[in-house]
Amino acid sequence: MHWCIKVKDASVKQSVIDGIKYRDFDMQLDPEGNPVIFWVDTVLSYSEIKDIKGVEDVISGNKACPCGSGEYKYELVDARGIFCAYVCSKCEDEKRKKYRIEIFEDPNYQCDEQVEADY
Ligand SMILES: [Zn+2]
Repeated sequence: MHWCIKVKDASVKQSVIDGIKYRDFDMQLDPEGNPVIFWVDTVLSYSEIKDIKGVEDVISGNKACPCGSGEYKYELVDARGIFCAYVCSKCEDEKRKKYRIEIFEDPNYQCDEQVEADY
């Protein structure tokens, strides 16, 4: 299982990692991530991880936002209902800025693919 784990603070991160490693020697740690959030691949279950001292929250890795916030992800869709990106409450504003504002407001926005070729 792939898990996104949030710890209480950076000082307990290593002891939580050690706690997982103690029970699952083959666990894989994702080196990316901020001081209080990290991803692991382990055979341990949700409740086994949750029981480790210092763990504040555990989210299934495929439900966690790819931005590394440790929040649940959801789909950002435009005014036509077209999928744009996975976001969470922490990064939605930031990711919206990468798109033209009108695609979220006007279902009839100009789409580049529909521009007629000029022969
Ligand atoms: Zn996010």
